[in-house]
Amino acid sequence: MSLISPVVLASLASLVLLVAGCAAPPDVAGADASTGTAASPGPLLGLPTGSPTAAPPPRSSTPPVPPPTQQATQAAAWVVGARPLPLRPDGYGEVLPTPPVLADRRLATADLLPAPPTAEFTATVSAVPGAVLARSTWHPGCPVRADELRYLTVSFWGFDGRHHTGELLANVAAAGRLVEAFRALHAARFPIEEMRVTTAAELTAAPTGDGNNTQAFVCRPVNGRPEWSAHARGLALDLNPFCNPYRRNDLVLPELASAYVDRTWLRPGMVLAGDVAVRAFARIGWSWGGAWIGARDPMHFAAVTG
Ligand SMILES: [Zn+2]
Repeated sequence: MSLISPVVLASLASLVLLVAGCAAPPDVAGADASTGTAASPGPLLGLPTGSPTAAPPPRSSTPPVPPPTQQATQAAAWVVGARPLPLRPDGYGEVLPTPPVLADRRLATADLLPAPPTAEFTATVSAVPGAVLARSTWHPGCPVRADELRYLTVSFWGFDGRHHTGELLANVAAAGRLVEAFRALHAARFPIEEMRVTTAAELTAAPTGDGNNTQAFVCRPVNGRPEWSAHARGLALDLNPFCNPYRRNDLVLPELASAYVDRTWLRPGMVLAGDVAVRAFARIGWSWGGAWIGARDPMHFAAVTG
């Protein structure tokens, strides 16, 4: 899940004044937990020992969600990446209860790229423009050369019911397949909050635990381990990290996404076994982190294990 930093967020906020979320998780213990924070994530951060979430998430039928009007008001007031979390000794942010406004998250998308002219799915794949590479996490020490990456733009539907254009960096070997997966998500109107290239600043920013950015290439190692994550090769993708948090023991990433640890309370943007997202990525040969034993990473899809 790929995630974001405060500075970046701040600029994004001014860019679109909105609330989109993002987060990019990091790989954790062998897995990839990317997450992030809309503003932060660097490499993942986590939570204090103890309970990952303070209050058990509500169950399906009657979730304690604010009425529509109240929810809309709160959502308008929520600025992703604006509230750095207290840090745990291991460097992760503390896993705090999910703010009510984010428990059934449906934030509007802040457009970085012009929206598609029609409701038809459109996609582009090209060499990575210099300006995009410069604002990305790529550097000469990454396990892929810059010319082994591609810049993708794809249409997607937001939680706001509107049509948007997202951007991704991915391995040249995966670019075409990713377009097909996003074509399927678009046809199913699977909602995505934000989709943009992760910046280097986001990797080192203080965690805010509220990011929800869908991302592929992020030059980072598996959390807490020396090896590179599949994201660092552009061979993995995190889909709606906040709605599909990574969890391992008491760690939840993004840190404020505990409400989504309850997979029986169905909400838009969640990735569940056998659903359209899992089937779309299975068709292109990518595995799903939600099926892992031990650490669960339902936001994560990869062309390789890990
Ligand atoms: Zn991932």
